[in-house]
Amino acid sequence: MKKHFDYIVVGGGISGCVLSYTLMKYGASVLMFDLPKENKSSAVAAGLWNPVVLKRMKKVWMADEMMAELHTVYPDMERWTGSEFFDPIAIRRVFHNAGEQNTWIELCDAPAFSPYLEDSISPLPEGVVGAFESGQMKGTGRLNVLGFMEAMHAALRKEESFREERFDWNAVVRDSEGVDYKDVRAHAVISCEGAQMALGKESLAQDGFSPVKGEVIRVKLDKPLKNECIHQKHFMLSEENMEVTVGATYAWDGFDKGPTKEKKQELEEHVSKVWKGSSKTLDHKCGVRPATKDRRPLVGPHSLAHTWIFGGMGSRAVLMAPYLAKVLVEHFMYGTELIEECLPKRFH
Ligand SMILES: Cc1cc2nc3c(=O)[nH]c(=O)nc-3n(C[C@H](O)[C@H](O)[C@H](O)COP(=O)(O)OP(=O)(O)OC[C@H]3O[C@@H](n4cnc5c(N)ncnc54)[C@H](O)[C@@H]3O)c2cc1C
Repeated sequence: MKKHFDYIVVGGGISGCVLSYTLMKYGASVLMFDLPKENKSSAVAAGLWNPVVLKRMKKVWMADEMMAELHTVYPDMERWTGSEFFDPIAIRRVFHNAGEQNTWIELCDAPAFSPYLEDSISPLPEGVVGAFESGQMKGTGRLNVLGFMEAMHAALRKEESFREERFDWNAVVRDSEGVDYKDVRAHAVISCEGAQMALGKESLAQDGFSPVKGEVIRVKLDKPLKNECIHQKHFMLSEENMEVTVGATYAWDGFDKGPTKEKKQELEEHVSKVWKGSSKTLDHKCGVRPATKDRRPLVGPHSLAHTWIFGGMGSRAVLMAPYLAKVLVEHFMYGTELIEECLPKRFH
């Protein structure tokens, strides 16, 4: 006899974890397949969430809805897993010129921005170098992504809802009611395979991705940095033991090359420019962001029957996944509308 699950979720990165939790919250049963050791994006993500694109001082698409959902979902997931991974911290924007400082002051009073920007300009923290002062964001923070994924995988394992194995799309048999997969029967299968949908030969194929490689370094400073994230072209995120994560870089090729000397040098030069003291690089990692050609996520039905996609969140999965998971799951449960701009069929 086959084991019945409502949904098979393929991929246990940020997208798959948030979606699985949301499905269960709405009463559905889930079986997740994941290869945690092969994860190259969530596993290196700094985990920051921020509703404003700091370079251009523009709000992220649907930022208000996403911020509201995020502040409910991750704390709920902490309670469900019995682990801590949600860490609200300020992001500090260091201004490069007087114009940026003036824009900040103007936006502080604008209703769309006032929930997210502190209305005073503040001096740079001890040890940080910059010609101008800085502004601090409100409601921002970081998710400890590795801890989050480990906690979710462990909680799913306890419910016999997690399999650490490669999902073989060739073994899916579709009929009018749902899918069979080896010993499992489900209503539908949802791909949360990240950039593998564009780069991997064994994942579900989907058009519209434009993957972006990113690299980060972990650095030990000679003095502690306050628990916050300093944004000054690159970010410098405070960690334990006087360490900081510095990143991230952007590249549209070299996905198989691993971490590169050039990007390491770019990040180390950044640290030497913005930090007064000395520093030592401890670690250097890379990953591939599942970005799309039009910078909108991919959430909706795939062209194959009973097959769905949840991903394409580029460099903002922490911010976007909770709200988008709610939209998809409410569509499954109540037949509510999906978001037109996110439908995968736009790339068919
Ligand atoms: C350097 C860097 C820094 C970043 N910083 C941030 C940040 O601060 N904040 C933020 O929000 N985002 C950040 N991102 C982006 C973030 O990492 C991605 O948006 C996010 O991780 C995507 O998650 P995902 O679950 O969609 O995909 P992934 O993390 O790629 O997860 C997909 C999972 O599916 C598994 N898988 C694939 N195929 C199969 C299969 N056939 N069978 C079983 N398992 C399978 C993989 O092993 C993997 O575990 C950063 C990215 C990089 C590279």
